Amino acid sequence: MDKEIFAIFGNPVSHSKSPLMHNYAFKGLGYPGCYNRYRLEDGTELRKTFFDLGLKGINITVPHKEHAYNACDVLDDFAQKVGAVNTIVERGGKLYGYNTDAPGFLKAIAEFEEIKSVLFIGAGGTAQSTAVILKEAGYQVSLINRSAARLEKFAKEGFETATFEAFTPKPYDLVINMTSAGLEDESLPAPREILEALIPQAKACVDVIYGKETPFLRLAKELDKPTKDGSDMLLYQGIIAFDHFTDHRYSFDEIKQYMQKAFD
Ligand code: NDP
Repeated sequence: MDKEIFAIFGNPVSHSKSPLMHNYAFKGLGYPGCYNRYRLEDGTELRKTFFDLGLKGINITVPHKEHAYNACDVLDDFAQKVGAVNTIVERGGKLYGYNTDAPGFLKAIAEFEEIKSVLFIGAGGTAQSTAVILKEAGYQVSLINRSAARLEKFAKEGFETATFEAFTPKPYDLVINMTSAGLEDESLPAPREILEALIPQAKACVDVIYGKETPFLRLAKELDKPTKDGSDMLLYQGIIAFDHFTDHRYSFDEIKQYMQKAFD
């Protein structure tokens, strides 16, 4: 079998752990693949760039997940529903698109038991796909956001939504930071008084940001709550993507044992 080339497309892309994760798994499993990174400036060039580079598959990160959706010939049902693609595989000259962020997130929060109600702080692209998969899995999902515009779509889909100003805190089992607040700054994702009312009533707090302790998780720890950052979400979306790249020939745990070395 010829060597297959994979990549992550994004802008910026230099910080991405995906090359390390996938290359550990290719090497460990003896699969003839190699994974690189590519800074794509113009998302409308995604499809052409994919073929020009002779790739077998890609992951897509910010800000190109909608462009990736538009670049595919075939979409799986879930990617179609949420309008965002983070994994593309080429088969017979056609591009097949998947969303592995949301199932990765679902698996990452499965360790928390007896969770029914979940509050998302934030209503961006990641919140969109994860809200849908959590709802399908039977969780009750509510969202609060800094501004009203992004909430409209969620309200239309039947989610309970509120801006910070219109929100009255009540108990939720899990409170999740779905914003980028804390990623490159030291800001909380919502006003402190809202968080201090919410967190003590929650069973645990989760952040989708990884690689650092965010002000949100720091506050949750100060309030004695179990916390979880976005590392498992990143690992699990990568394992599910790798499973598509390699046509389902390895088990989840076989891939995990090598891919998780990227987090050591
Ligand atoms: P989007 O740009 O689509 O949405 C950003 C959201 O964050 C919006 O709701 C926005 O509110 C809100 N926001 C941004 N800054 C602040 C702030 N200072 N205070 C309050 N709210 C703020 O981003 P994504 O959904 O693509 O990404 C969200 C996060 O998820 C990022 O941190 C990203 O790194 C992380 N992520 C992690 C993954 C993982 O594997 N662990 C995978 C994918 C994403 P408004 O509408 O008012 O602008």
